Amino acid sequence: MSNAKGALVLFSGGQDSTTCAAWALARYERVETIGFDYGQRHAVELAVRPAVLQALRTMSPEWNACLGEDHMLDLGLLGRISDTSLTKDVAIAMQENGLPNTFVPGRNLLFMMVAATLAYRRGLDVLVGGMCETDYSGYPDCRNDTMQSLQATLNLGMATDLRIETPLMWIDKAQTWELARELGGEALVEMVRTETHTCYLGERGELHDWGYGCGACPACELRAKGYRAFREKA
Ligand code: ZN
Repeated sequence: MSNAKGALVLFSGGQDSTTCAAWALARYERVETIGFDYGQRHAVELAVRPAVLQALRTMSPEWNACLGEDHMLDLGLLGRISDTSLTKDVAIAMQENGLPNTFVPGRNLLFMMVAATLAYRRGLDVLVGGMCETDYSGYPDCRNDTMQSLQATLNLGMATDLRIETPLMWIDKAQTWELARELGGEALVEMVRTETHTCYLGERGELHDWGYGCGACPACELRAKGYRAFREKA
């Protein structure tokens, strides 16, 4: 166990943030979660959050004891000021600047800033996020440099000693499945597979070997490819 006071996990109900929550539960005595409603077109992720948190509690008595409050915050402002395929009814496409229009400018920056403000009040000194530079879609706010710089800014601006932890930063999707197995065995892998939600289109009709989703959007493709690579290695 670390000597940190406790961790606040940015938790969306997806595969990555669920793995991050398990990672935090294995390390910190106090773990709280934070989620954001920012006018996502498909609120399926938000809808699965309570079930995923409940499932994490049933994974072990220790995790159940460590897992504290869940904070769900309304950031509708972000949906109102941004124009992306995640918040508006437009098709997923590549933009002229080389970024897909699933990129919500400023999202992770705002999330971390709001999380830091809440952590301040809750007496938590670690922020955990699922940002990843390995097989990401090129989102600049997922870069390690961005997170390091933001950590410095937050600590300067709030006179705190917060640490931003990003356990998935240098691993790919197959390794994210592996990490879940290391943390909670096949039971956690199965929980992530059946309870979490990643699909950009909010599709939750059919259970595939890698979980629910449309199977065709970039998020589903990554998740399916990672799951298959994980199973092939095993
Ligand atoms: Zn999908």
